[in-house]
Amino acid sequence: MKIGIVGIGLIGASLGWDLRQLGHEVIGVSRQQATCETAERDGICDRASCDLASLQATEIVFICTPIAAIVPTIERLIPHLHSDTILTDAGSVKGAIVDRATALWSNFVGGHPMAGNSESGIAAFEKGLFVDRPFVLTPTALTVPSALNTVDELVRSLGAIVYHTTPERHDLAVAWISHLPVMVSASAISACLNEPDPLILDLAKKFASTGFRDTSRVGAGNPEMGQMMAEYNRDALLRSLYRYRDRLDGIIDAIESKQWSEIKEILATNQAARHEFLDPDAHD
Ligand code: NAP
Repeated sequence: MKIGIVGIGLIGASLGWDLRQLGHEVIGVSRQQATCETAERDGICDRASCDLASLQATEIVFICTPIAAIVPTIERLIPHLHSDTILTDAGSVKGAIVDRATALWSNFVGGHPMAGNSESGIAAFEKGLFVDRPFVLTPTALTVPSALNTVDELVRSLGAIVYHTTPERHDLAVAWISHLPVMVSASAISACLNEPDPLILDLAKKFASTGFRDTSRVGAGNPEMGQMMAEYNRDALLRSLYRYRDRLDGIIDAIESKQWSEIKEILATNQAARHEFLDPDAHD
């Protein structure tokens, strides 16, 4: 297939590399000329430029820009496309995008690869990033079935595990497993940094090891992306954050009132259940 990618950053470049390995022709478009030159030089795209018109003859285009730029990019792209071109995106939120994008282009299919790392930009790209990772597609009643099938087959060929759900359910679920953890981790780092005694803060920095590395990773990721999660998935994120705050208050109460067995019970339940989120076969 002749495939376009707009936004050659972590996700766009990782997609480009893998799709080329499968024999597809990949045409990239990004904002900066330097990104485009890197994409061609490193074999991420067959050709790359800053010109959306270069995507004219593509059969499918993945929009992999930051969330705020997805719908505006589609608006600017439309004049250059054949009517049967399929558009899809990689945005981490779907409710704010899918209806608007579908109204602009009926051959649109919302997508979200559940894969990434804490880096951003083309230099952060990873080969095989999507292998064995969930890739969520969010069709609505208006989604064209043949477009959905094409996107489904293509992302499945990357080795991804494909799920279909509504944009609303997607946003509620990712609020729990992606957006809430970012805000919780960010709050933990921020609370540490606000330790009032400089000596204790200095010691904490020196003593930090694997526990801090694990719990701080997602809170110290791309700030622009964290902001977009909050801005574009506000309601679902707040819903999760309020429930989280209740749980935190419950743990504080239990510690204050020295209910050690209750603490142990909470931790034992979590210990037994965590694998249900991380082992894809555990909840068939
Ligand atoms: P990223 O590394 O920052 O890449 C986005 C790239 O898009 C930038 O490197 C930039 O390249 C280019 N760009 C920015 N604005 C543009 C515009 N208006 N037009 C064309 N290109 C533009 O971000 P990412 O992590 O790949 O995320 C991309 C999308 O995937 C986001 O919507 C995000 O929600 C979603 N996503 C991210 C992850 C993750 O873990 N990172 C996971 C799943 C989904 P230039 O250098 O050329 O400006």
